[in-house]
Amino acid sequence: MAGSLQGKTAVITGSTRGIGLGFARALAAQGCAIMLNGFGDTAAIEEIRAGLAAAFSVPVFHNDADMREPEAIVAMIADADDKLGKVDILINNAGIQHREPVETFPLEKWDEMLAVNLSAPFHAIRAVLPQMKARDWGRIINTASTNALVGTPELVCYTATKHAILGMTKVVALETIETGVTCNAICPGTVRTAMSEHRIDAFAKKRGVSKEAALDDYIARKQPYHQPMGRFITIEEIAAAAVYLCSDAGAAVRGAAFTVDGGWTAR
Ligand code: NAD
Repeated sequence: MAGSLQGKTAVITGSTRGIGLGFARALAAQGCAIMLNGFGDTAAIEEIRAGLAAAFSVPVFHNDADMREPEAIVAMIADADDKLGKVDILINNAGIQHREPVETFPLEKWDEMLAVNLSAPFHAIRAVLPQMKARDWGRIINTASTNALVGTPELVCYTATKHAILGMTKVVALETIETGVTCNAICPGTVRTAMSEHRIDAFAKKRGVSKEAALDDYIARKQPYHQPMGRFITIEEIAAAAVYLCSDAGAAVRGAAFTVDGGWTAR
Protein backbone atom coordinates (compact mmCIF):
# COMPACT_ATOMS: atom_id res chain seq x y z
CA MET A 1 0.00 0.00 0.00
CA ALA A 2 1.36 3.44 -0.93
CA GLY A 3 2.31 5.57 2.08
CA SER A 4 1.04 9.10 2.62
CA LEU A 5 4.45 10.57 1.70
CA GLN A 6 5.10 8.57 -1.47
CA GLY A 7 7.30 10.62 -3.82
CA LYS A 8 8.26 13.13 -1.12
CA THR A 9 11.81 13.73 0.09
CA ALA A 10 13.10 14.79 3.51
CA VAL A 11 16.27 16.12 5.08
CA ILE A 12 16.39 15.28 8.79
CA THR A 13 19.26 16.75 10.80
CA GLY A 14 20.64 14.77 13.74
CA SER A 15 19.05 11.55 12.51
CA THR A 16 21.79 8.98 13.11
CA ARG A 17 20.14 8.03 16.43
CA GLY A 18 17.43 8.97 18.91
CA ILE A 19 14.40 11.05 17.96
CA GLY A 20 15.86 12.03 14.56
CA LEU A 21 16.28 8.39 13.55
CA GLY A 22 12.68 7.86 14.70
CA PHE A 23 11.56 10.64 12.34
CA ALA A 24 13.53 9.03 9.49
CA ARG A 25 11.99 5.61 10.14
CA ALA A 26 8.43 6.96 10.34
CA LEU A 27 8.74 9.09 7.20
CA ALA A 28 10.45 6.29 5.24
CA ALA A 29 7.61 3.98 6.29
CA GLN A 30 5.29 6.42 4.51
CA GLY A 31 7.33 6.17 1.30
CA CYS A 32 9.47 9.28 1.78
CA ALA A 33 13.07 9.34 0.50
CA ILE A 34 15.50 10.41 3.21
CA MET A 35 18.73 12.35 3.65
CA LEU A 36 20.09 11.41 7.05
CA ASN A 37 22.51 13.68 8.89
CA GLY A 38 24.48 13.39 12.10
CA PHE A 39 27.59 12.00 13.70
CA GLY A 40 28.58 8.46 14.55
CA ASP A 41 30.65 5.49 13.55
CA THR A 42 30.83 5.29 9.72
CA ALA A 43 30.01 1.58 9.55
CA ALA A 44 27.11 1.95 12.00
CA ILE A 45 25.66 4.85 10.00
CA GLU A 46 25.97 2.84 6.80
CA GLU A 47 24.12 -0.02 8.49
CA ILE A 48 21.32 2.35 9.50
CA ARG A 49 21.16 3.87 6.01
CA ALA A 50 21.08 0.53 4.22
CA GLY A 51 18.64 -0.92 6.75
CA LEU A 52 16.12 1.89 6.25
CA ALA A 53 16.43 1.71 2.46
CA ALA A 54 15.87 -2.05 2.48
CA ALA A 55 13.05 -2.03 5.03
CA PHE A 56 10.99 0.63 3.31
CA SER A 57 12.18 0.45 -0.33
CA VAL A 58 13.04 4.15 -0.47
CA PRO A 59 16.29 5.95 -1.36
CA VAL A 60 18.24 6.84 1.81
CA PHE A 61 21.47 8.84 1.91
CA HIS A 62 23.64 10.32 4.65
CA ASN A 63 25.35 13.71 4.72
CA ASP A 64 27.80 14.36 7.57
CA ALA A 65 27.40 18.15 7.70
CA ASP A 66 28.35 19.64 11.06
CA MET A 67 25.42 21.82 12.21
CA ARG A 68 27.92 24.26 13.71
CA GLU A 69 29.06 25.21 10.20
CA PRO A 70 26.71 27.31 8.04
CA GLU A 71 28.52 26.47 4.76
CA ALA A 72 28.23 22.75 5.47
CA ILE A 73 24.48 23.15 6.07
CA VAL A 74 23.98 24.90 2.72
CA ALA A 75 26.10 22.20 1.05
CA MET A 76 23.97 19.49 2.71
CA ILE A 77 20.81 20.97 1.17
CA ALA A 78 22.56 21.12 -2.23
CA ASP A 79 23.63 17.49 -1.79
CA ALA A 80 20.02 16.52 -0.99
CA ASP A 81 18.82 18.37 -4.12
CA ASP A 82 21.39 16.47 -6.11
CA LYS A 83 20.68 13.01 -4.68
CA LEU A 84 16.93 13.24 -3.93
CA GLY A 85 16.02 15.70 -6.72
CA LYS A 86 14.38 18.19 -4.29
CA VAL A 87 13.70 18.82 -0.62
CA ASP A 88 9.99 18.67 0.31
CA ILE A 89 10.42 18.22 4.05
CA LEU A 90 13.04 19.65 6.40
CA ILE A 91 13.21 18.49 10.00
CA ASN A 92 15.63 20.54 12.07
CA ASN A 93 16.24 18.03 14.82
CA ALA A 94 19.97 18.06 15.72
CA GLY A 95 20.32 19.39 19.23
CA ILE A 96 22.75 19.45 22.13
CA GLN A 97 22.38 20.13 25.84
CA HIS A 98 24.62 21.15 28.72
CA ARG A 99 23.58 21.44 32.37
CA GLU A 100 25.22 24.04 34.58
CA PRO A 101 24.14 27.09 36.59
CA VAL A 102 24.18 30.44 34.77
CA GLU A 103 27.18 31.90 36.60
CA THR A 104 29.52 29.01 35.69
CA PHE A 105 28.00 28.11 32.33
CA PRO A 106 30.96 27.66 29.90
CA LEU A 107 31.04 30.35 27.21
CA GLU A 108 32.10 27.89 24.51
CA LYS A 109 29.09 25.68 25.33
CA TRP A 110 26.82 28.72 25.01
CA ASP A 111 28.19 29.52 21.52
CA GLU A 112 28.10 25.89 20.37
CA MET A 113 24.52 25.36 21.53
CA LEU A 114 23.34 28.56 19.86
CA ALA A 115 24.97 27.34 16.63
CA VAL A 116 23.49 23.81 16.66
CA ASN A 117 20.08 24.40 18.29
CA LEU A 118 19.22 27.79 16.78
CA SER A 119 21.44 29.03 13.95
CA ALA A 120 21.55 25.69 12.09
CA PRO A 121 17.74 25.60 11.66
CA PHE A 122 17.88 29.19 10.36
CA HIS A 123 20.53 28.34 7.76
CA ALA A 124 18.72 25.19 6.64
CA ILE A 125 15.32 26.91 6.40
CA ARG A 126 16.88 29.81 4.48
CA ALA A 127 18.40 27.33 2.01
CA VAL A 128 15.23 25.26 1.37
CA LEU A 129 12.50 27.89 1.38
CA PRO A 130 12.91 29.14 -2.23
CA GLN A 131 12.35 25.69 -3.75
CA MET A 132 9.45 24.88 -1.39
CA LYS A 133 7.75 28.16 -2.30
CA ALA A 134 8.38 27.55 -6.02
CA ARG A 135 6.57 24.17 -5.80
CA ASP A 136 3.97 25.61 -3.38
CA TRP A 137 4.44 22.62 -1.05
CA GLY A 138 6.74 22.12 1.87
CA ARG A 139 6.90 21.01 5.47
CA ILE A 140 9.38 22.43 7.97
CA ILE A 141 9.46 20.95 11.45
CA ASN A 142 11.71 22.20 14.21
CA THR A 143 12.32 19.86 17.14
CA ALA A 144 11.87 22.14 20.13
CA SER A 145 11.16 20.81 23.65
CA THR A 146 9.00 21.36 26.71
CA ASN A 147 11.87 23.72 27.49
CA ALA A 148 10.52 25.91 24.69
CA LEU A 149 7.53 26.60 26.94
CA VAL A 150 8.86 26.36 30.49
CA GLY A 151 12.25 26.94 32.09
CA THR A 152 14.47 24.35 33.75
CA PRO A 153 17.25 25.28 36.19
CA GLU A 154 20.77 24.59 34.85
CA LEU A 155 19.50 24.51 31.26
CA VAL A 156 19.92 28.21 30.53
CA CYS A 157 21.15 27.96 26.95
CA TYR A 158 19.03 24.93 26.05
CA THR A 159 15.91 26.68 27.34
CA ALA A 160 16.84 29.93 25.58
CA THR A 161 17.48 28.24 22.22
CA LYS A 162 14.29 26.15 22.44
CA HIS A 163 12.18 29.23 23.31
CA ALA A 164 13.86 31.11 20.44
CA ILE A 165 13.12 28.39 17.90
CA LEU A 166 9.42 28.83 18.60
CA GLY A 167 9.80 32.48 17.60
CA MET A 168 11.57 31.48 14.37
CA THR A 169 8.86 28.88 13.71
CA LYS A 170 6.11 31.49 13.99
CA VAL A 171 7.84 33.96 11.68
CA VAL A 172 8.54 31.33 8.99
CA ALA A 173 4.91 30.15 9.29
CA LEU A 174 3.65 33.69 8.80
CA GLU A 175 5.99 34.45 5.89
CA THR A 176 4.66 31.33 4.12
CA ILE A 177 1.03 31.68 5.22
CA GLU A 178 -0.29 32.16 1.67
CA THR A 179 1.63 29.17 0.35
CA GLY A 180 1.51 25.39 0.67
CA VAL A 181 4.55 25.49 2.95
CA THR A 182 3.98 24.95 6.68
CA CYS A 183 6.38 25.46 9.56
CA ASN A 184 5.77 24.03 13.01
CA ALA A 185 7.64 22.95 16.11
CA ILE A 186 7.27 19.68 17.98
CA CYS A 187 7.83 19.94 21.74
CA PRO A 188 8.65 16.51 23.20
CA GLY A 189 8.64 15.67 26.88
CA THR A 190 11.38 13.39 28.19
CA VAL A 191 12.27 10.62 25.73
CA ARG A 192 14.85 7.93 26.52
CA THR A 193 17.74 8.78 24.19
CA ALA A 194 21.45 9.47 24.66
CA MET A 195 20.49 13.04 25.63
CA SER A 196 18.43 11.94 28.65
CA GLU A 197 20.01 8.56 29.46
CA HIS A 198 23.01 10.01 31.30
CA ARG A 199 20.67 11.72 33.77
CA ILE A 200 19.09 8.38 34.63
CA ASP A 201 22.59 6.87 34.96
CA ALA A 202 23.60 9.66 37.35
CA PHE A 203 20.39 9.22 39.33
CA ALA A 204 21.02 5.46 39.73
CA LYS A 205 24.68 5.99 40.63
CA LYS A 206 23.78 8.51 43.33
CA ARG A 207 21.46 5.93 44.91
CA GLY A 208 23.96 3.10 44.45
CA VAL A 209 21.42 0.92 42.62
CA SER A 210 21.12 -0.51 39.11
CA LYS A 211 19.56 1.57 36.37
CA GLU A 212 16.54 -0.69 36.11
CA ALA A 213 15.99 -0.50 39.86
CA ALA A 214 16.22 3.29 39.75
CA LEU A 215 13.80 3.84 36.85
CA ASP A 216 10.49 3.73 38.75
CA ASP A 217 11.92 5.99 41.41
CA TYR A 218 13.21 8.39 38.74
CA ILE A 219 9.79 8.65 37.10
CA ALA A 220 8.01 8.94 40.46
CA ARG A 221 10.31 11.76 41.52
CA LYS A 222 9.51 13.62 38.31
CA GLN A 223 5.79 13.30 38.90
CA PRO A 224 3.53 15.23 38.91
CA TYR A 225 5.28 18.00 37.01
CA HIS A 226 7.70 16.57 34.44
CA GLN A 227 6.14 13.18 33.79
CA PRO A 228 2.49 13.42 34.88
CA MET A 229 1.62 10.25 32.93
CA GLY A 230 4.19 8.32 34.96
CA ARG A 231 6.21 7.21 31.98
CA PHE A 232 8.62 8.44 29.32
CA ILE A 233 7.39 9.65 25.92
CA THR A 234 8.34 7.21 23.15
CA ILE A 235 10.24 8.05 19.99
CA GLU A 236 7.35 6.57 18.01
CA GLU A 237 4.88 8.99 19.63
CA ILE A 238 7.05 11.95 18.61
CA ALA A 239 7.58 10.60 15.08
CA ALA A 240 3.84 10.07 14.58
CA ALA A 241 3.31 13.79 15.20
CA ALA A 242 5.78 14.56 12.40
CA VAL A 243 3.99 12.21 10.00
CA TYR A 244 0.74 14.03 10.74
CA LEU A 245 2.31 17.48 10.26
CA CYS A 246 3.82 16.31 6.93
CA SER A 247 0.53 14.89 5.67
CA ASP A 248 -2.04 16.85 3.69
CA ALA A 249 -4.26 16.67 6.79
CA GLY A 250 -1.70 18.88 8.54
CA ALA A 251 -1.89 21.69 5.97
CA ALA A 252 -3.70 24.11 8.28
CA VAL A 253 -1.38 23.65 11.25
CA ARG A 254 0.79 26.76 11.03
CA GLY A 255 3.32 28.09 13.51
CA ALA A 256 2.26 25.62 16.18
CA ALA A 257 4.14 24.43 19.24
CA PHE A 258 2.88 20.84 18.96
CA THR A 259 3.40 19.34 22.41
CA VAL A 260 3.90 15.59 22.84
CA ASP A 261 4.87 15.83 26.49
CA GLY A 262 2.44 13.69 28.48
CA GLY A 263 0.90 16.78 30.06
CA TRP A 264 4.11 18.37 31.38
CA THR A 265 3.23 21.85 30.09
CA ALA A 266 -0.54 21.50 30.63
CA ARG A 267 -0.19 22.45 34.28
P1 NAD B 1 20.60 12.47 20.71
O1 NAD B 1 21.74 13.03 21.44
O2 NAD B 1 20.21 11.04 20.91
O3 NAD B 1 20.76 12.70 19.12
C1 NAD B 1 21.23 13.93 18.62
C2 NAD B 1 21.54 13.79 17.16
O4 NAD B 1 22.08 15.05 16.70
C3 NAD B 1 22.58 12.72 16.83
O5 NAD B 1 22.28 12.11 15.60
C4 NAD B 1 23.88 13.55 16.72
O6 NAD B 1 24.87 12.93 15.90
C5 NAD B 1 23.33 14.82 16.08
N1 NAD B 1 24.20 15.98 16.26
C6 NAD B 1 24.65 16.51 17.42
N2 NAD B 1 25.45 17.55 17.16
C7 NAD B 1 25.50 17.69 15.82
C8 NAD B 1 26.17 18.57 14.93
N3 NAD B 1 26.97 19.55 15.38
N4 NAD B 1 26.00 18.40 13.61
C9 NAD B 1 25.22 17.39 13.12
N5 NAD B 1 24.57 16.53 13.90
C10 NAD B 1 24.71 16.68 15.25
O7 NAD B 1 19.38 13.43 21.09
P2 NAD B 1 17.79 13.27 21.02
O8 NAD B 1 17.31 13.08 22.40
O9 NAD B 1 17.37 12.33 19.96
O10 NAD B 1 17.41 14.76 20.60
C11 NAD B 1 16.96 15.13 19.31
C12 NAD B 1 16.26 16.46 19.42
O11 NAD B 1 15.15 16.33 20.32
C13 NAD B 1 17.13 17.58 20.00
O12 NAD B 1 16.87 18.80 19.32
C14 NAD B 1 16.67 17.67 21.45
O13 NAD B 1 16.89 18.94 21.98
C15 NAD B 1 15.20 17.34 21.30
N6 NAD B 1 14.55 16.86 22.52
C16 NAD B 1 14.96 15.72 23.16
C17 NAD B 1 14.30 15.30 24.29
C18 NAD B 1 14.67 14.04 25.05
O14 NAD B 1 14.16 13.81 26.15
N7 NAD B 1 15.54 13.20 24.52
C19 NAD B 1 13.21 16.05 24.81
C20 NAD B 1 12.82 17.20 24.13
C21 NAD B 1 13.50 17.60 23.00
